[in-house]
Amino acid sequence: MFQERPEASHQLLSWRQIFFPPHPGTRRHSNRGISPSRFEDEPGVVRFILEVFAAASRAMELLTILNRCHHFRGFVYQHARFSADKKSIEVDVRPRRGSAAICSRCHQPAPGYDQLAERRFEFIPLWGFFVFLLYTMRRVDCRRCGAVVVEELPWRDGKRTLTKAYMLFLARWARRLSWRETAEAFRTSWEKVFDAVEHVVTWGLAHRTVGEIDAIGVDEIQYAKGHKYLTLVYQIDLGITRLLWVGKERTVESFQGFFTAIGEEVTSQIAFICSDMWEPYLKVIREKCSEALHILDRFHIVAKMNKALDEVRAEETRQMRQQGLEPVLRKSRWLLLKRQENLKEEQRFGLRDILRYNLKTVLAYLLKEVFDQLWDYQSAAWAGKFLDEWCRHTMRSRIEPLKKIARSLRQHRELILNYFRAKKMISSGTVEGLNNKAKVTMRKSYGFRTFRVLELSLYHALGKLPEPESTHDFF
Ligand SMILES: [Zn+2]
Repeated sequence: MFQERPEASHQLLSWRQIFFPPHPGTRRHSNRGISPSRFEDEPGVVRFILEVFAAASRAMELLTILNRCHHFRGFVYQHARFSADKKSIEVDVRPRRGSAAICSRCHQPAPGYDQLAERRFEFIPLWGFFVFLLYTMRRVDCRRCGAVVVEELPWRDGKRTLTKAYMLFLARWARRLSWRETAEAFRTSWEKVFDAVEHVVTWGLAHRTVGEIDAIGVDEIQYAKGHKYLTLVYQIDLGITRLLWVGKERTVESFQGFFTAIGEEVTSQIAFICSDMWEPYLKVIREKCSEALHILDRFHIVAKMNKALDEVRAEETRQMRQQGLEPVLRKSRWLLLKRQENLKEEQRFGLRDILRYNLKTVLAYLLKEVFDQLWDYQSAAWAGKFLDEWCRHTMRSRIEPLKKIARSLRQHRELILNYFRAKKMISSGTVEGLNNKAKVTMRKSYGFRTFRVLELSLYHALGKLPEPESTHDFF
């Protein structure tokens, strides 16, 4: 089946001419070739012809569909058939007669040189069959390039064996499912899904417009044990939030790479920057964006506070166990770290119980809770007064992990108060939200946690990149 040319209607006409040649003397293209009298005269031939016609109209359909959704000037679909194992459909593609091959180096037509062996290009599977386009590639003798070069094919990207249409199709699914799930759903390999995403992301990065950027947020994310980090830079403008850049590690160099990539003009327009207290980032921001309002990320301060409290609790629990005291802090971890309003009734009683004890952990907990009020201030001046007061009390507390935070807060006082100067407009919560999505994305691309895989999956999921054009919307 499927064995027909796309221009089948012309072919049918010519068959009619073959089986009913015009009588000498009649006009050549007369439609009166099939006359009732001839039906009666040659019933065997008529049946044969009807069968051929029926087969032709059935066979045409796949090529018709292909011509409708995946048509390229200069190429025609010729035959479609099942592979020997009946698992794939193979479609022959030929250059359209008279159309010159395109040089893949200079993208201009060039005279042919020779042909290579037939290649198979995988297309979107259809009704449980793999689909392959079979094409014998030409090489051109390009005078412009002064070399023999392989031809450019509109459905092909570099040396990849998947058609562009199939890659876009897989990549879209890889945004919803994990890469492994995508591979399983379409009976293909993880590597091919990787190829697909790489093709789409590479195109997207080359074709995106960065435009003006008002606000950015920078954050690090750990992706493997042994302190392996990525630096992520987000655009956090009111109208658009997206991942702009992925850098290896969290060094001065990795963050500088972002500014090199966007160039000086875009950099000079940045008005707000959100970051945590990571010194290499602070250094780069001081150098590159001294004009911008630098805001220390609220989320990171809260996270640091929780971490300090956890340290105090763990240390005190250990000491109490050593001294054979009643383990009152056992199972208290979440009671202390959760925000009070999120606790259930019984947990609230549990917390109240703990707070009766004269423990370092309790004091640390109360200091942390009080600190939370900082974010309610409207003016930077009052927030500053509160911050100073909190630091003064904490420095007298003899709780070393919290004192460390207080020292750090004093050191970065102005950057924290910028949060209020920016009228809370630039919410570091946006960065936090994006970072949570980034973590989910990293989990989805699991398989190989290399930098390249993570970089691609993050751009793909959070970059809001433009997609390559397609001949058809394959969903
Ligand atoms: Zn060329």
